[in-house]
Amino acid sequence: MASNKRYDYLVVGAGLFGAVVAYRAHKAGRRVLVVDRRNHTGGNTYCEERDGIFVHRYGAHIFHTSNREVWEFVTSLAEFHPYTHTPQANYRGEIYPLPFNLNTYEALWGTTSEEEARAKIEEQRLHLDHEPANLKEQALSLVGRDIYEKLIEGYTEKQWGRSCEELPAWIIRRLPLRYERNNNYFNDTYQAIPTGGYNPLIERLLEGCDVRLNCDYIANREELDSLAERVVYTGELDRFYDYRFGRLEYRSLRFEEEQLDKEYYQEVSVVNYTDNETPFTRIIEHKHFEDRGTPHTVITREYPLEWSEGKEAYYPINDERNTALYAQYRALADKEPRHIFGGRLADYRYYDMHEVIEKALAVRID
Ligand SMILES: Cc1cc2nc3c(=O)[nH]c(=O)nc-3n(C[C@H](O)[C@H](O)[C@H](O)COP(=O)(O)OP(=O)(O)OC[C@H]3O[C@@H](n4cnc5c(N)ncnc54)[C@H](O)[C@@H]3O)c2cc1C
Repeated sequence: MASNKRYDYLVVGAGLFGAVVAYRAHKAGRRVLVVDRRNHTGGNTYCEERDGIFVHRYGAHIFHTSNREVWEFVTSLAEFHPYTHTPQANYRGEIYPLPFNLNTYEALWGTTSEEEARAKIEEQRLHLDHEPANLKEQALSLVGRDIYEKLIEGYTEKQWGRSCEELPAWIIRRLPLRYERNNNYFNDTYQAIPTGGYNPLIERLLEGCDVRLNCDYIANREELDSLAERVVYTGELDRFYDYRFGRLEYRSLRFEEEQLDKEYYQEVSVVNYTDNETPFTRIIEHKHFEDRGTPHTVITREYPLEWSEGKEAYYPINDERNTALYAQYRALADKEPRHIFGGRLADYRYYDMHEVIEKALAVRID
C-alpha cells in the first residue's frame, strides 16, 4: 500500500481483535497506529497484578479452542499453562458441580447412574404441547424442576434483570445435560491460561506498532482518519454512525475486588451464585488460574448491571429489535471503502477469545 500518510493502518481498539490485526499488518510491513479509549491495552482480557496474582480485571477469561491454527498462533507468542475449568454453583450454601453431569445429579438427588438420573429428569420435565412461551417454560421442558429452580432461575434472572417468565425462550436454546462424571466445562481440544496473565500476549501482538491510550476515535475522528489509509474499527457500530437509527442495547457488569489474607477462599476459580437473594452472580478467585504460592488471595464479585450510556457494554442483547437495528448499521458499514469492522462490539455478537482471533486472522491485509 503506497501512501503519503503517516500510517497504513489505524486500529481502533487494542482488544484481541485489534491487536491481532495490528500484529499481522505490522508483520506484513505496514505502519500501524493503535488507539484505545481505555488507559490500557488488551480490552476485556486485561489483567492487573496484585503481588503475584494476576487479576482478570473484566471477569474470568479461560482460553479454550479446538482450532489448531489459533492455538499455534497464540502459543507461538506467549507461554500458556494447562488449566481445566471446573466451575461450581452455590445455591443457598449447597454446592453443585457444573456443567450438569452425573456429579451434579448425585449432589441433587443422590442418583449414581445415568438411568436413575435420566428417570429423575424425565419425571420432572415439563411436557409442552406448544412452543415454549418464555424462558421458564423452555428451561423446565429441557431439564425439569429441580435443576431449573436451583441452578437456572435465580442466576438467569439476576443476569438479565427480569423474571424468567418475562424472558424470551431463545436465550436458552440448549441446556446440555451430560451423563458422565466430567466437571470439565469446555469440550475443546486445547484449554489453557497464559502465564503471567493476558498482558504479555497483548504486548507481543502490539510490538512494533505505535499505541495511543486514553484516545477515543469518535471524539478525534477527523485527526485520526487523516493519519492512516485504512481504519480497523472494533468499537460499537451504532456509535460509529452517531446512533442515527437508534441505540443498540447491552447488558453491563460491575466488578468488586477484594484481597484476603488467606491462601484460598473457594475450591475452584469460579463459583456461580444461583439463588435470587445474593446480589452478585459469581465469585472469581484468580489464584486458581496461576498459583505462585502467595500467602494471600484475590476474589472478584461480579454483579450484573443494566446498561446505560457511559457503562461498559459487555453482552449484546440479540433480540429481534436489536438484530434488525444492527442490520441497518451493518448495511452502511459494508459500504465503507476504507474501514474494516470487527470484534465483539462492531459485530454486536458475543464471541469467545478464540473466535475473535480466528476472525482477526482472516482479515485481508492490503
Ligand atoms: C465477563 C466476561 C467473561 C469472558 N470470559 C471469557 C472466557 O472465559 N473465555 C473466552 O474465550 N472469552 C471470554 N470472554 C470474551 C472475550 O472477552 C472477548 O472474546 C474478547 O475480549 C473480544 O475482543 P475484542 O477485541 O472484540 O473486544 P474488546 O476486548 O472489548 O476490545 C475492544 C477495545 O476497543 C476499545 N474501543 C471501543 N471503541 C473505541 C473508540 N471509539 N475509540 C477507542 N477505543 C475504542 C475498547 O476500549 C476496547 O479496549 C468474556 C467476556 C466477558 C465480558
